[in-house]
Amino acid sequence: MQLRDTPEEARFRHRLRDWLASTVPARDNEPLVPQTTDIDTARRWAHALYEAGYAGLTWPREHGGQGLTLGYQAIYLEETARAGAGEHVNVIGLGMVGPTLIAVGTPDQQHAYLPRILTGETLMCQGFSEPGAGSDLAAMATRATPDGDEFVLDGQKVWSSYATVADECLLLARSAPDSSRHRGLTCFLLDLRTPGVTVRPQRQLTGEPGFGEIILDQVRVPATRVLGGAGNGWSVAMTTLAHERGTFGFTLTARLERQLRLLAATIRDAGLDRDPVVRDRLATLHVEAQGLRWTSIRALGDGHSPGPESTVLKLRWSEANQRLTGLALDVLRDAADHPAAERWRSHWEREQLRSRANSIEGGSSEILRDIVAERILALPRSR
Ligand SMILES: Cc1cc2nc3c(=O)[nH]c(=O)nc-3n(C[C@H](O)[C@H](O)[C@H](O)COP(=O)(O)OP(=O)(O)OC[C@H]3O[C@@H](n4cnc5c(N)ncnc54)[C@H](O)[C@@H]3O)c2cc1C
Repeated sequence: MQLRDTPEEARFRHRLRDWLASTVPARDNEPLVPQTTDIDTARRWAHALYEAGYAGLTWPREHGGQGLTLGYQAIYLEETARAGAGEHVNVIGLGMVGPTLIAVGTPDQQHAYLPRILTGETLMCQGFSEPGAGSDLAAMATRATPDGDEFVLDGQKVWSSYATVADECLLLARSAPDSSRHRGLTCFLLDLRTPGVTVRPQRQLTGEPGFGEIILDQVRVPATRVLGGAGNGWSVAMTTLAHERGTFGFTLTARLERQLRLLAATIRDAGLDRDPVVRDRLATLHVEAQGLRWTSIRALGDGHSPGPESTVLKLRWSEANQRLTGLALDVLRDAADHPAAERWRSHWEREQLRSRANSIEGGSSEILRDIVAERILALPRSR
């Protein structure tokens, strides 16, 4: 297991750090501005990353990527979080849909999608969840009825991140009418401008339109837009979710480390940096963040596919982030005499509301505990 940067990785880190210093306005120890509403800025940032060679780091070179290991992607995530840079708006395209296209797409699909995903011209979202199928994804009911060279989609997807700004959706539907559970599903690359598609924003607890529902009413999709073969939808979806786990741990720990720095600044502004209880709670969170970071490195395994630790990471990170935002609000409550602390209030109120979703998105904590019990600890199934 490699715990430190190799000489090549260290060079990559320094080059990236220099580039970020000249590209991202210095925002250290400043509250972050949510970037969900300014799509033009987000697209410009995506394009700047592409031009500088930081999009598709782990994609193979023959598909326009840099052919690097997950370790480099981890460095990218750490350094961009440290610099306070916005997240890539095409995170689903780059991290999930692109790698799935590379694994199971036809040459025509790869040619049509991959370059545009890299540049950020085609923004992707993922339409798996439905009102009756979240944790239990195999319960999905959206229909894809074969009709000649086309499929006709009817149904409803919910909680689809970026759906309100995306161009296309990787959508899972039931194509065999009498099938149940994991069988008879098909994955589609759906153009969200197709007649019959309606995207409605769904507001998160923060009030921001971070995701949306996708209503499908007699939507005709050519069979050329099937990804991975009709009837293979479950296996394609699992490929996509496996890629989501790739450097997920680093995304999370890098965010947590930045939050900790902002929290330390808040504590100083609140005049509570000598309070032993606050110091103890901050130190405990710091230790946890470091533990998660080292676990992320361990999870990188062979540098190409993550190990089972990513489930533990997601579980512990969501709990740590919720405790962190709780500490921030406790500090602000006790800091009524320190006007300097007030500049943090809207940041931490938003962050605490947003952190409630951490234990639901990407697999709820209950489901993750089941996975840890059954697949890592080999305990008997609970159901
Ligand atoms: C911010 C955010 C972004 C999201 N982005 C996307 C996206 O881009 N694309 C997408 O397809 N989906 C997305 N989702 C949906 C997400 O995947 C689901 O919310 C999640 O899988 C849970 O499903 P559910 O909401 O239907 O809750 P349910 O599955 O109905 O669960 C309700 C509660 O019951 C518990 N529960 C369910 N089954 C069990 C069980 N067997 N044992 C113990 N407890 C159980 C759950 O833990 C939870 O507490 C997003 C969600 C959020 C919050």
